Order: sequence, then C-alpha cells, then structure tokens
Amino acid sequence: LQENQPSLSADQVAQLQEGVVIGRFGKHADVENPQGEVFRCHIRRTIDSVVCGDSVQFHPGDDTSAAVSGVIEIVKDRASVLTRPDFYDGVKPVAANIDQIIIVSSVLPAYSPNIIDRYLVAAEDVNITPVILLNKIELLSDNEREEIKQSLNIYRKIGYQVLMTSCKSGEGIDNLKQFLKDKISVFVGQSGVGKSSLVNQLLPEAEEATGDISDTSGLGQHTTTAAKLLHFPAGGDLIDSPGVREFALWHLPLEKVTEGFIEFRAFLGGCKFRDCKHKDDPGCLLREAVEKGEISQARFDSYHKILDTMEDQRPTRSRPP
Ligand code: GDP
Repeated sequence: LQENQPSLSADQVAQLQEGVVIGRFGKHADVENPQGEVFRCHIRRTIDSVVCGDSVQFHPGDDTSAAVSGVIEIVKDRASVLTRPDFYDGVKPVAANIDQIIIVSSVLPAYSPNIIDRYLVAAEDVNITPVILLNKIELLSDNEREEIKQSLNIYRKIGYQVLMTSCKSGEGIDNLKQFLKDKISVFVGQSGVGKSSLVNQLLPEAEEATGDISDTSGLGQHTTTAAKLLHFPAGGDLIDSPGVREFALWHLPLEKVTEGFIEFRAFLGGCKFRDCKHKDDPGCLLREAVEKGEISQARFDSYHKILDTMEDQRPTRSRPP
C-alpha cells in the first residue's frame, strides 16, 4: 500500500468497495466496480498518486447523482507502473498494473528493428512483458515477407512473442484478440504505424469515440487527452492515451540499455575490463558471443546505435526559468 494511508474505522473499512481506476481527470478519477458501475471520485489527499489501471478501495458516496460522488481511500500495491520522464520528479507514473506492452511497428513507415529494440529496452526497464506486433503486412511481397520473418525470428529466438497483422486485410486480428484476453495491454509505437486503426478494429466504435464514460457530471469531457481504461469486447483491457503511446526510453541510464537486451544478460559481468564498452575492448564476452553466433550481429549493432544516439541526445537537466 502507498504510504500515508488514512486511518479508517472498522465501520468505514467495511463499507469500502473494490474498484479499478478507468480514467483520471485533474483532481478526480473514475472508478469502476466489479459490476461495471462507474463512480467519479475525489482522491483522499494523503494518497500520493492515482493513475489509470490502479486497483483501489473507495466509498461510492451517498449521493450518487452528484457530479463527484465517491472518494478513493486506498490504492493497492501496483504490479507494474508505466512511467514518463518528468522535468522535476525524474519520472512520473502514467498507468498501473499493465500486463503487456504491444510494440506496434509497420512496414510503412519502413520496418525498423532498431526502433523495436528501443521499445523493448524501455519495456524491460519497467518490467512489463513486451509483445512485438508488425502491422500492414498485406503491403509486403512474398520475398519481403520472408526477409522480415527471418529478422523477426531473432526476437522469437530470445523469447519474445511476435504478431503480424493487417488492418486492411484483417489478417492476424483474431490472433491478436486472443493475445489481449485476460490482460491489461497498452499499444505503443511511432506515429503512423497503425495504433489507432488497430484500436478501432478491436473496440466498438461508440466506446472509442466517446471515451467510454457518459458525461453526466457537467465537468466536461477530458477524455481525449487523459489516459483511460477500455474493455475489449473479446476480453482484456486497453489503457490508452497519447502519452501512453509515446512511451519511450530517452531517460534510461546507459547501463539499463545493456540490461534491456535480454540475451546479453548471460554474458555481462565477465568481460576482461570492468568498464568494458562492449565494442573493441579486448576480452569482451559480448563480442565473443556475437562472433560465436550466440548473440545476433543485428541486435549487437542496434545496441550500439541506441547508445550512440542516446549520448548525442541526452537532454540538459537544467530547470526552465
Ligand atoms: P497511428 O499513428 O499509429 O495511430 O496510425 P494510424 O492508425 O493513424 O494509421 C496511419 C495510416 O496507416 C492510416 O492512413 C491508416 O489507414 C493506415 N493503416 C493502418 N493499418 C494499416 C494496414 O494494416 N495496412 C495499410 N496498408 N495501411 C494501414
């Protein structure tokens, strides 16, 4: 449990309901109980942070016709947290209890294993299972398809799930639905790869368009930019927002990048030099593993490409005036 929980009487505790935060708007949050009823709630001031996906205990309130009726009293421990960089706090939680990060990539913009690798590192850092999804596959010729399959096999070999879909032809969509069942997922990836198109295929139109909550509160709809949790009709949940989709890795320390390449882990710590850069250094176990074919050359090159760009783009940490 988060620190500074209020001390509630036994009576108050007995009245608490279980719920999941499905939307967060300014000072309020929408909480859904297991029956599917939604309550707009205040957040007890002693609670640090409440984000979409949080499992909470709340009082629904006596007057449920009020704009904001309930109060979130307790936020349960989070199984996982998706964070984004924050100027003042380092990182800020964006969503909680996510089971899998679907890394959406496509063949137009061009297939880029390096970008997939960046997302994989970021997912490994927050300890959430990544799934690689390649969209727009109907655009590929047979030869191109074979080539990309070979490249994707590198990921399968090190234990990642790889899905291929086309929103145009419908190929792979049923398989994707199976993957989303019983889990909370987020879709991340570059602009233009087809995240909205996939979400549109998976959710009933009305739900996606209106942001799931009927606005009886008079507080206005803030759902277009705030994160929200939506239910797939075929099972499973989605947490979505522009911020969630942009989840990336620029704030990672360099050593996290190395650990984020999961197949490197078995070779770390044994290099001849403790500050081995895993490049031209003599006695580098990683490079030897690449030479022996135990680590893919493509992933090794991609790793160095990420380090190079991170060193170039490191933001200055000065505060704005
Ligand atoms: P987002 O920026 O990741 O949300 O991408 P969008 O869903 O907006 O899609 C970007 C463009 O790709 C749109 O013009 C879509 O119609 C198109 N698109 C999405 N999925 C597919 C697909 O499977 N095949 C093809 N050919 N185009 C697609």
